[in-house]
Amino acid sequence: MLLTFQQAKQQVLQSISTIKSLSHEKVRLFDALDRITAENVISPINVPRFDNSAMDGYAVRLADLKQSTLLPLAGAIFAGDDISNLYWPKGTCLRIMTGAPVPNDADAVVMQEQTKKSDLGIAFLNQVKAGDNIRRIGEDVKQGAIIVNKGTKLTVPTLSTLATLGMSKLVVFKKLKVAILSTGNELTPIGESLPCNGAIYDSNRFTLKLLLSKLNCEIIDLGIIADDPNQIKQALMSASSQADLVITSGGVSVGDADYTKTALEDLGTINFWKMAIKPGKPFAFGKIGNALFCGLPGNPVSTLVTFYQLVQPLILELSGLEDSSMDLSFKVKTATNLKKSVGRLDFQRGVLQINTQGELEVSTTGQQGSHITQSFNQANCFIVLEQERGNVAKGELVTVELFNALLK
Ligand code: AMP
Ligand code: MG
Repeated sequence: MLLTFQQAKQQVLQSISTIKSLSHEKVRLFDALDRITAENVISPINVPRFDNSAMDGYAVRLADLKQSTLLPLAGAIFAGDDISNLYWPKGTCLRIMTGAPVPNDADAVVMQEQTKKSDLGIAFLNQVKAGDNIRRIGEDVKQGAIIVNKGTKLTVPTLSTLATLGMSKLVVFKKLKVAILSTGNELTPIGESLPCNGAIYDSNRFTLKLLLSKLNCEIIDLGIIADDPNQIKQALMSASSQADLVITSGGVSVGDADYTKTALEDLGTINFWKMAIKPGKPFAFGKIGNALFCGLPGNPVSTLVTFYQLVQPLILELSGLEDSSMDLSFKVKTATNLKKSVGRLDFQRGVLQINTQGELEVSTTGQQGSHITQSFNQANCFIVLEQERGNVAKGELVTVELFNALLK
């Protein structure tokens, strides 16, 4: 019996507890985008740091307004002003700008649009309530509060908040070291001319580099290795001595030149090497020395699907992320028939769109063979078809999983 996808994923993620703990480093805030926090981030200050005005208008005391709704103007406060020595006579109001500090004894700021200015002063046209248009100290962020939990991936809004707090450096987990190599006598590096009719470009290693750099990994590129058991073993030994994770492409199936799996068996332990998914049935997972090992199938579509579905969550958790459940999935009607055979979980590629009735629907990108790279080009989602399901007719509900930022 093949492992189901869920069983395989569980085994992959469970292996993480056996890996050494990650070390930390301090980086500049600007370099922290997409990195993962290695400790809770505590706010050193209140935000706002002081009561300030939310509007351009007038600061008033309610007691003064009870006496008269027309108050003479006694001065002005601008953003950035120091008001510690401000003198504000009773029975008057103050001009105040957005972001300017509000005097302690002001009860409210009245927006300019609700006043009328004359030579006598400012007439207040509407009812004024205590606290109107005053942004209170600490109402956004309290000093001492945890702003970001340990194990969080840093986004633009989060880093923007930390900039508001005046932070310029941050402790994050060090980058995961990932070694990659391609196996296959047929492979030629991109940029070189193909030597013979049977040769193809090594697109997988290029793809893996892109994916790993998006996941903020340190990449150790060991190039192309021929289909030779000894060379593969040597490359894997070198890879596992340098990296936390080794990723290979090709050679994990049952062909006569597929040596990756046997090399893994000889050098380390194999956890599983087949699972009931399509594409990507041959996927070897195990360990060599202290490094985890993922052997991806060579077909480019299978490489991308297995990387996305299994290696991505593994890398995120190995990199220190606490919650790697990143998938946005839901059910919609399919606008096209979908070919499916019973027995494996399919990750077909689809286009989620809004039809002329304004409803969400999904369509296939066409041929779904594991060598049809075009099936990914137009896609914005996976159509995830259950293991026991057969052909799907137009109009049936299917599960759709929107691509996350890794594929955009
Ligand atoms: P394999 O998994 O080694 O049996 O390879 C399966 C298919 O993927 C074959 O058609 C290979 O030529 C192709 N393939 C293997 N490695 C790569 C690679 N690095 N880049 C592009 N195609 C590959
Ligand atoms: Mg091969």
